[in-house]
Amino acid sequence: MPTTQRLTRCRYLRKNDQQCTAEAVDPNAEVLLCTKHMARVVEHARATYARYRKESAR
Ligand SMILES: [Zn+2]
Repeated sequence: MPTTQRLTRCRYLRKNDQQCTAEAVDPNAEVLLCTKHMARVVEHARATYARYRKESAR
């Protein structure tokens, strides 16, 4: 039986189905992502939200 896993991996899945092997920023968070992918997701969310607001303002 494996001992407690102290390293939580990033859950990001690349287009070629390869999982990112970097360490997750916060192992206790609901979203398990490394710093790189966390930044990417935040950036994407911001851009999507901005576009959504712009479209709904019309
Ligand atoms: Zn990652």
